[in-house]
Amino acid sequence: MATVNSVLGPLDTADLGFTLTHEHVVTASAGILQTYPELFGDLDRFKEQAAATLIEARDGGVRTSVDLSTLDLGRDVRLLADLARRTGVNIIAATGIWRDVPRALWNRTPDEIAALFVREIEVGIEGTGIKAGIIKVANDAEGVTREGEVILRAAARAAKATGVRISTHTYAPNRVGEQQIAVFEDEGLDLGRVYIGHSNDTTDLDYLLGLVRKGVWLGLDRHQTSMPIGPDWGGRAETLAHLIKAGVGDRLMVSHDWSVLGVSRTSDPLLSRSYNPDGWLFATRNVYPRLRELGVSQQQIDALNVDNPRRFLGG
Ligand SMILES: [Zn+2]
Repeated sequence: MATVNSVLGPLDTADLGFTLTHEHVVTASAGILQTYPELFGDLDRFKEQAAATLIEARDGGVRTSVDLSTLDLGRDVRLLADLARRTGVNIIAATGIWRDVPRALWNRTPDEIAALFVREIEVGIEGTGIKAGIIKVANDAEGVTREGEVILRAAARAAKATGVRISTHTYAPNRVGEQQIAVFEDEGLDLGRVYIGHSNDTTDLDYLLGLVRKGVWLGLDRHQTSMPIGPDWGGRAETLAHLIKAGVGDRLMVSHDWSVLGVSRTSDPLLSRSYNPDGWLFATRNVYPRLRELGVSQQQIDALNVDNPRRFLGG
């Protein structure tokens, strides 16, 4: 039996069900939620909204959410565990580091940082016993920087030591996924354990098919009403349909990258919902009907959120 750590303990990957592979309950910065809670407005109201979002998603068929907020993106594993308990939605928490690599880590070695990730996977996070089930890394428009490379190498070593998968944030217009893969290959990591995220911020099929040929999985994991970069959601659906028709539908996963509470976006963080009234059901309500119009079969659609996440996480 293959298992993955959820915030409430190990889960048989056969039980993951409909899985969103890149979402967030909170996106902020390290310590902000705990130190400056007033930035979030009414925290109790926020927690109710987060629970309501999860319950709505659950009632719409979502069984599992991979929450890719790391320490530097405002991770709060106690909150995730509380929400999972209240709503019945499985939540998988992340170790790793996003784009704000803490300066305190810049001059540490990959092995020193890998040991931190391994401890969060095998022992727990912040003394809670809640274990990470995925390793997050991030490189944006600037590509793989010196400190970003240290994190990638640490993630690869933690993945090799534990078997836990890696999920990346990329800047697809600059083909940053290729740079990440080069580092992972140099570390001798099995690329079948790597998910290159935000790959639908581009429509460049040569780039995307080239990544799949390397052996990685692709996260077509940004779907919202309006997107800050790249094509609109209709353009993203067309790219997805092209990839499925090119025969690589068994390597793709679909999610939203939508944060219930995005503190950096607005003075009223809960307004983020007004940008995306469908929340974590945007793909179910909008993208999948469009894919069917584009000639994608129901079986091919089901693979994106059920079969492929199960195979990627349990492999
Ligand atoms: Zn994200």
